Amino acid sequence: MPFYTYRPRDPDKCCKYCQNEFEIVQKITEDALQFCPDCGNEVVRIIFPARQSTEVPTNKLLSDDNIKKHGFKKLRNVGGGKFDEVV
Ligand SMILES: [Zn+2]
Repeated sequence: MPFYTYRPRDPDKCCKYCQNEFEIVQKITEDALQFCPDCGNEVVRIIFPARQSTEVPTNKLLSDDNIKKHGFKKLRNVGGGKFDEVV
């Protein structure tokens, strides 16, 4: 079951439990909580953007192998307006 994160709607009306953010396990079919289970003040659900599964870590994307594979060149700035070809 997924975790949902909530925070108080009004930061002045909260308890120790909900003052920052709290996570709760709910069924996907369950309605979003409207009130803090502890103090009963209004809470709002925080929706995190879904992580893209096609995301490639930048360090892999810019690896020498990958640069070469895609026909790019990697240059290193050696100063004085000159560049060394690394890949
Ligand atoms: Zn609370």
